[in-house]
Amino acid sequence: MHEFNFKDNELYCENIKVADIAKSVATPFYLYSYKTLIDHYRKIKTAFRPIDPLVCFSVKSNSNLAVLRALVKNGAGLDVVSGGELYKAKLAGVKAGKVVYAGVGKKHSEIEEAIEFGILFFNIESEEELGDIEKIANRLKKKVNIAVRINPDVIPKTHRYIATGKGESKFGLDFETAHKIFNSRWKYPHLNIRGVHIHIGSQILNAEPFTTAIRKVLEFLKSCKIEVDYFNIGGGLGIVYSIENPQTAKSFAKSILPLLKKSKLNIILEPGRFISGNSGILVTKVLYTKRTPRKTFIIVDGGMSDLIRPSLYEAYHKIVPVRVRQDSSATAERVDVVGPICETGDFLGKDRYLPRMPKGSLVAVMAAGAYGFTMSSNYNSRPRGAEVMVIGNKFYTVKEAESYKDLVHGEIIPRILR
Ligand SMILES: *Cc1c(COP(=O)(O)O)cnc(C)c1O
Repeated sequence: MHEFNFKDNELYCENIKVADIAKSVATPFYLYSYKTLIDHYRKIKTAFRPIDPLVCFSVKSNSNLAVLRALVKNGAGLDVVSGGELYKAKLAGVKAGKVVYAGVGKKHSEIEEAIEFGILFFNIESEEELGDIEKIANRLKKKVNIAVRINPDVIPKTHRYIATGKGESKFGLDFETAHKIFNSRWKYPHLNIRGVHIHIGSQILNAEPFTTAIRKVLEFLKSCKIEVDYFNIGGGLGIVYSIENPQTAKSFAKSILPLLKKSKLNIILEPGRFISGNSGILVTKVLYTKRTPRKTFIIVDGGMSDLIRPSLYEAYHKIVPVRVRQDSSATAERVDVVGPICETGDFLGKDRYLPRMPKGSLVAVMAAGAYGFTMSSNYNSRPRGAEVMVIGNKFYTVKEAESYKDLVHGEIIPRILR
């Protein structure tokens, strides 16, 4: 469920017409619904209430400060994967004790910043990293919490680029190495190695790979007699993009709650897409319709630099006209919706049936709230559009559109070339 719905053939975000917002905000822009965001966070919280987990929103899915602040204000923790995300997390007012930090390539400066802030856990991904964190903690005279990220070697049915829990992926540690680390805890006097972490992939539609992975980890802890008090089960819950039928938070909880309860461990979850995905859309405008002997192209002013998921993962995003004309079904035709970028791979949707849309018509790319703006770029030197959030019966610009000047920020022509 989300708050982007049609009333009288007009797309609304909550109670505001998307077309009205587009009167004062230039396209392309991202539009977020506060209510959808918070509803999804609460769905997870409610489903898992019996074990009262810490829900750390995955910042990489949507790192706009207003989005982070909204979730933090409603009680969420944050899952970060870089110093930049940690910086944004702090600006959003998160409590240090609700931050977890994963990623295979943490830099020393980033580790230092996170220790100084006093985050809850580092999810460590290699033995070398563990040794380096020990050294830094020693230098800073701090005691640091560590969870070992385990790669449980399960194969979730998802795009190969977003499966992270297979044996051959770069993430996490195999059971044997994890065991070795737990057995050599004494080598790390400044570390409390007291958690395990998994994150097996993204856009996973059923609980089966999760239960398999959780079982594997719990059996491992038991058979090796490893004592920990935290189990971070990661994120990865899938959402509806087209015809998927993903588990609800409730049914997901129902499948794994018994296992988690029995473990008596403190549980952390790191959903990203589940919370932010359906909370945002990309609003773009038709520039031209181009008919070639083979195909018809709707050329819009948003492209792969704004939303790269279709190009990168062959991801499907529903594309709808913001205003449906009465006669439209009669004139629907098969089109490719493409952006202005000079790349054949620049498309938002292929082989879609859309009504004829005159120049200037608004088009919404749905379910673009996760891995949308955060993966955007300035490719083709295109300034990024604004991010806007509807809260109650008002809308707020939560990030201004970039200007040409922003495109050259920090660039220097050496004196010798002047
Ligand atoms: C990306 C990521 C997540 C969030 O994944 P979603 O599929 O968006 O829920 C959670 N944990 C870690 C460690 C991640 O890298």
